[in-house]
Order: sequence, then C-alpha cells, then structure tokens
Amino acid sequence: MRRPDEGWAAALGQNSEGIGVGVGAALGQRLLRLVGFRLPRFWAAALVCLFFTQVPGLAEANNASEARAITVSATESATTLEVLLSNGVPVEIFTLANPYRVIIDLPDVAFKLPPETGRASRGLITVFRYGLFAEGKARIVIDTSGPVKIAQAGMTEVAKGMSLKIILEPTDAESFGAGTGASRQSLGDPAPADEPASAPQPVKPVGKPVIVIDPGHGGIDPGAVSSGSITEKSVVLAVGTALQAALKQTGRYDVKMTRSTDVFVSLDKRLKFSEDNGADLFISLHADSIEERQYAEAVRGATIYTLSERASDEQARQMAEKENASDLLAGLESGGMAATDQVKNILIDLLKRETSNFSADFSNVLARRLGKTITLSRDPQRSAAFKVLKQPHAPSVLIELGYISNSRDQEQMITPGWQKQVATAIAAAVQTYFTKRTVGQQ
Ligand SMILES: [Zn+2]
Repeated sequence: MRRPDEGWAAALGQNSEGIGVGVGAALGQRLLRLVGFRLPRFWAAALVCLFFTQVPGLAEANNASEARAITVSATESATTLEVLLSNGVPVEIFTLANPYRVIIDLPDVAFKLPPETGRASRGLITVFRYGLFAEGKARIVIDTSGPVKIAQAGMTEVAKGMSLKIILEPTDAESFGAGTGASRQSLGDPAPADEPASAPQPVKPVGKPVIVIDPGHGGIDPGAVSSGSITEKSVVLAVGTALQAALKQTGRYDVKMTRSTDVFVSLDKRLKFSEDNGADLFISLHADSIEERQYAEAVRGATIYTLSERASDEQARQMAEKENASDLLAGLESGGMAATDQVKNILIDLLKRETSNFSADFSNVLARRLGKTITLSRDPQRSAAFKVLKQPHAPSVLIELGYISNSRDQEQMITPGWQKQVATAIAAAVQTYFTKRTVGQQ
C-alpha cells in the first residue's frame, strides 16, 4: 500500500566509513523499489549507484515511457533535478569523474522536451544532455561544476505521471574519488547486440570496395547545436543517408553506415565497425560550430581532416579534441593515461603505413570535388589526432561539412537539395579515387 506522504523518502548517502548505503524504499511497496548497494571502499564515494527495480507484476512499468519535462532548481546547498515521466521505469544513477558527471540510465524513454532543455546552467548543474544511448536504452548525462554526491533520489507518483527527483550536493574531489569511475565499464559499453549498426560482418563480399559512412554523434550526443536548435547529429545523418543512396546507385560499392538512426555510437564502436566490415574507405561526417559569436558570421565552409599525430594548426587540434570528447559527453569514462599512451603508440605506427598516403590522396580528390559544389573553409585540408580516424586497415577522412554557427551555412545544411549536392560530390570523389587506385594497381 502506498503512503503518499512518504513521497520519495528514499535516500542514499555515504556514512563516515565511506560506504554507500541505500536507505528506505517508501513508495516501493506499490510501484518501485529502491535498492542501495554496499560498495567496496575503493568505489564508495565515486560510484553511487541507485537502482529502481520494478516490483513484479506491475504491468504499467513495462509500457514505453515519455519524459515530458526536466527541470532544475537550486538552493545554496543543493541542486535538484526533476524528470517528469509518463510512467514508472527502472532507473540507474551513478557518478563519473574526469570530467565530473552524473549519469541517469533509463530504458527506452522518449524525450518530448523543448529544444532548449538542459542548456542553462543552474546550481551545481552546468548543462545536461539526454537521448538514446543505445537501442532501447536512454540516458541523461549531467555535467556538474565540480564533484557532487547524490544526496537523495527517488520516484513518486504525481498527477501527470511519475516524478524522478535527484538531489545533488557538493562534495570534495577526494571523497568523490576522482578517477575510480573507470571501474564501471559494463555500463559505459553496452553489448554490441544493442546496436544493430555494429553487427559484425567479417566476410567481405569479393570485388566491391566497402565504403563505411560514419555520421558523427547521435542520440544523447547532439554534436554542435545552433542557436535555432539545429543539431550536427541530424545534419550529418541526412547527408550520410544521401551519400549512401548516391554510392549505392553506382552499383560499385558495398556501402555500410555506422549509424542510420538517431542513436549514440561510441568512437570505439565506430572503429570496430569499420574493421569488422573490412572498410576500404571510411568517411566520417561532422559539422562545426564556433563558440565566439562575434566571428560566427565570418567563419564558414567545409574542411577535410586526415589523421596526424601533430595537428596541422591550433584550430585543427581543438577540433580533434572536441570530436574526441563525444564519448565523454555521452557518459563514458575517460580512458586515463595508460590508454592515452597506447593510443599514441598506435598512432605513430599507423602513420608509417600506406593507409595514411591513401587518406591524403582521397582528401586531395575530395577537396577538388567539394570545392566545385560547396563553400570550403579558408584552409580546407587539415590534419589532427582524431580518434575515429585511427584505423590501420582503411584510409579515412573526417569531413566537417560547414559551420552550424554560421547563418548561411546553417541555412544550406538543413536543405535536402544541399545535402544531396554534397552527397553527390563526395560520391564522385569516391569514384575518382577508386578508379585511380585500381588503375594504379594494374
Ligand atoms: Zn562532430
């Protein structure tokens, strides 16, 4: 029996011994149960996990839920995030360091929210993102201004559905346990089975070159967002889909896409997808944005990036940094120093290989073709250490199609006509490149 006055009295905190303890489950009797975990001492502060598990026999919790509002309120000592859901769902909440984040994992929740939701900073929350993290798995990633602890969390029935409330309080870096979040890999890395786009197909059809099109970002990671709420993820998916159609039309290629829906795919998954499919060419699609509003109207045009250890210029370096942060934005852990070193070694090795020459060849062909069709940036061929280009087996380029922060670029980028034009130009470059390569090999 539910006792309305108990509301969401469930609480979880750290006691003086540094052990996470789940307390209470007031409304659990009827709707949801809150389970606290005794965490190993090492994890205690960094990993606060809450699970609201369904009470058996509660049919309504199985229905697809909608998130209809997410609001943030703050007092001097605490910040509260409230998610209004159409019905109850199991929820998992945990924190991550580097940078400090709070992650809320939900099943397939549809977000029906005003586009500006999550952008304004309030209290301890600087910004938050939401969206599909994998097929059937939604996620809210909250960036916080510093180390926080989940002081309280719970779900209550309200007039319009269910209210999930999470109260965050500041803590210090030491008790947050910076860095220990890396232990939580299972959550950050859903099984490949969750993502149909990643289904490995190791057997390569004989004869046809395999082109992997990689629309950047997706789901919880929108990429660059314009003032008018146009997202990079949707622009690049539209161009990617048009490119797929243009390439398929030639009948000469086996065309694969790392994602064909609005779903998040990690950078590692994109690399693995390319390898599993035996890519002969990997084309990653992105769109840029600049922070400095005063330059927004002056900076526009497309840029083609190839891989290099040292960036061709500071802007290219920053661009790679921004694109490489995709996984962090989606709530995956940072790899830490060991991973960085490993990546560096792979990179040096890669650059010695033939694939990097092929990448440069394709970049040249592409710059010529694209230059005839769309505006290119002032320095349209650059290089930097983009993680998604670190492929030993396939030549790869990353195309920033234009600047979402520029009104003219933005206007064009959302037009199906422009998207098709760009796709046609890239497809033509692919044709030229493979014709040249085939002739060169004979
Ligand atoms: Zn991007």
